[in-house]
Amino acid sequence: MTASNILRFQEDNQATTDATITHSVTLIVPVYNEEASISTFLDKVTPVFDEIGPRIRFEILFVNDGSRDATERLILAAAAQRNDISLINLSRNFGKEAALFAGMCHAEGEAVIPLDVDLQDPPAVISDMIARWLAGAKVVNARRARRDGDSRLKSLTANAFYRVFNAMAEQPIPSGVGDFRLFDREVVQAIRKLGERSRFNKALFSWVGFEAEEVTYNRPARAAGETCWSYWKLWKLALDGIFASSTVPLRIWTYMGVVMAFASLAYSAVIFARTLLFGIDVPGYASMVILILVFGGMNMFALGIIGEYVGRIYIEVRQRPIYIIRSHHPSSATED
Ligand code: UDP
Ligand code: MG
Repeated sequence: MTASNILRFQEDNQATTDATITHSVTLIVPVYNEEASISTFLDKVTPVFDEIGPRIRFEILFVNDGSRDATERLILAAAAQRNDISLINLSRNFGKEAALFAGMCHAEGEAVIPLDVDLQDPPAVISDMIARWLAGAKVVNARRARRDGDSRLKSLTANAFYRVFNAMAEQPIPSGVGDFRLFDREVVQAIRKLGERSRFNKALFSWVGFEAEEVTYNRPARAAGETCWSYWKLWKLALDGIFASSTVPLRIWTYMGVVMAFASLAYSAVIFARTLLFGIDVPGYASMVILILVFGGMNMFALGIIGEYVGRIYIEVRQRPIYIIRSHHPSSATED
């Protein structure tokens, strides 16, 4: 069933008149120095709203992440012309992850869809996502089938990151799925509960769980302007992502310490036996090597133990909820 078919099907089923609004959806659009993209974005998004029909009330929530160009003025000008645009101005540039979170905290729709203003997340996919949501999905991921818009180096480094991340993180993130997704309000509320300051959205999105459905699209090149992500910024984001989602980098040292301690004990025994059997070649060599090895191993092991505590402190201070309930069915006796 195509998206519009599902929508039509549901319309018939619920026997509502065309003009009745039954659902609301907020598009969260973080913008940073995007004066060149705003009007093309609106031109592309509006027909999608019209196609989906009047039953769904759309709100476009721009989060201006400290732009220094005409972005704010252009958005306010557009908002004066129509009633479905809101704007949040952040006091300075906080980065896309923070801007997106600000949007999630202020979005009022029953579903939210974060999308980029540069049209790399094609608005046409929205109707598919909404159809799945109306059919019951809590999360709809938009997966990039191809990365036409990205250079070879970018796809290569992105794939390497996903592989390393998923090998270490407690909750894997799907590769090829960006921030362009649909979240039901229930999921948004769960995401808002995650209290950590250094945020890596993709990991948080998968951490909260809920079964995700998927739609695919081809990711085009940027419509206008330039990407704000240098490789250095991407590298910092990757580190944030890994260290925020995994204590493996700390834990490694416990195991390294144990292995080193045993290896050095074994080697010390060899040196000790050799000195006993064959005598001393260089005075002091045996005792020196044994001391270095034993203390080296012990140091690493001790660091590992400290790492275990640091990892636990980290998990505690993040104050993530201990569980998230998807649904609760009380027995009929408790209902009345
Ligand atoms: N963005 C933002 N704050 C920043 C950097 C980017 O709000 O510090 C916005 C930007 O305006 C765009 C979206 O995040 O709407 C994605 O940015 P970009 O296209 O530069 O990233 P890429 O598509 O290269 O990952
Ligand atoms: Mg982009």
